[in-house]
Amino acid sequence: MTVSNNPNLYLIKPSDATTWVSCKRRTWLDMHQAVNHDADPFNQLLFNAGLQHETNILAKLQSKHEVYRAATFEHTQALMQQGVAVIYQARLIDHELGLVGYPDFLIRHECGEYQAADAKLSQKENKKALQIQLGLYRRLLAGQLPAIVFLGDGRIANIGDEIDSLVDAFINDMRRLREQHEQPAVRYSHSKCRICPYFSHCRPQFDIMEDISLLYGVHGHTVEHLAQNGIETISQLATQNAEDIPDMPHLTSLKRKQRVILQARSFLNGELFQLNKVTLPAGTWIHFDIEDNPLTSTRERHVYLWGLLIPPYTRNDFDYIWTDDETQDYNGWLFFLEKIELYRTRYTSLILAHYSNHEKNTIKKYAERYGMDKHATVQWLLGQHDEDTPLFDMQRPVMDNLILPLQGYGLKDICKHPGLVNFQWQNQESGSQWSVVQFNHFLKAIETQKKQRLKVEILDYNRDDVLATRKLEVWLRNHFT
Ligand code: SF4
Repeated sequence: MTVSNNPNLYLIKPSDATTWVSCKRRTWLDMHQAVNHDADPFNQLLFNAGLQHETNILAKLQSKHEVYRAATFEHTQALMQQGVAVIYQARLIDHELGLVGYPDFLIRHECGEYQAADAKLSQKENKKALQIQLGLYRRLLAGQLPAIVFLGDGRIANIGDEIDSLVDAFINDMRRLREQHEQPAVRYSHSKCRICPYFSHCRPQFDIMEDISLLYGVHGHTVEHLAQNGIETISQLATQNAEDIPDMPHLTSLKRKQRVILQARSFLNGELFQLNKVTLPAGTWIHFDIEDNPLTSTRERHVYLWGLLIPPYTRNDFDYIWTDDETQDYNGWLFFLEKIELYRTRYTSLILAHYSNHEKNTIKKYAERYGMDKHATVQWLLGQHDEDTPLFDMQRPVMDNLILPLQGYGLKDICKHPGLVNFQWQNQESGSQWSVVQFNHFLKAIETQKKQRLKVEILDYNRDDVLATRKLEVWLRNHFT
């Protein structure tokens, strides 16, 4: 069976839940004007990891029960009627409800009923899309038993009738979207839209409307409230006085209102606004950036590369700790701490500059993972208070003091912009997800030459990351301090 693109014949399937939670318009477009698109390499990697997880669960079930693979909807029904212990790749359909679903497993309960079960990489059972998917399997089975989810961290969770109302809301809304002839009005979301296959369809429409949701930091609810107050376009917002804008969700302080007005002007004219003087900590700066892999056997992120740039900050001053796989995780962490101690003796008033709070959070997690929160170097790194720590998040002076003509304030957004820092990565395709994909290729590679080539590519990318934070520091010092 294939699922038709004709909206009248469209059967609602559990996998629609992910799209529905993310964007109603994308759900509508999938039903009415679907485009074919390939998964990007990172999503393909996640997909493959999901398949591997499913295979592992299958092997566990096979060690205890006889498992039958279902070939069709009818075959699934026949296997259920036979009362086999486990059905793999089951196929369920209910034309009356307009639902179709493919649970990874149907497991026969001692009461004789079947329970749907899915293997999921997620470590949390409270994710909305996951709950809807499992809830739909329950609808298709029309039973009372909870559905089962084999989570990525090895736990097994049950999803029962507590999510029935959420499943009803999903089904009703999907039916409404199926009947609707016009695409639903939605707001722009930079994080979701720029990686969406319908970006080229939607983006020009947002641009023509000068939709305020195009602005960085403006919440969708705020956009609705601004519209209710007659401020519907970026141009209208750009000409407002902050004092005249009433308080509304996510927009209550005068400071915030001034920010969004300046962000609107910056969007329209490409202008940069400095709100305050930038203050940077004194000392010897070392730039710091990590690369970590979330797809480990324990699902605890493994830092495969702790990258550092030391004075005088040329390409040759890149220093790093690399580990080949997660079995070396502890050693990599210890080498990192040793290196920090070495730098402390070599440089006075050390500052470890990084962009965003990921590096600091990772150090906290590693200290917790290895029970080392009392370790002297860890205590020095994390400090008692913000002002005690040598770790310095460079995103803070940017966010606190500057309004930039950007839709995102990530390191690459700022550094790559020709009118701002104008630093270009040698590998244009590289990024943090790209790095994870390359590292997983490295893990699988057998030939030494291939492994070496992949490692060099990842090191080059990380070197560019720390060079970028250095360029950002220089840019801030030259223009805003
Ligand atoms: S581009 Fe954005 S608004 Fe359009 S369908 Fe995709 S996520 Fe939704």
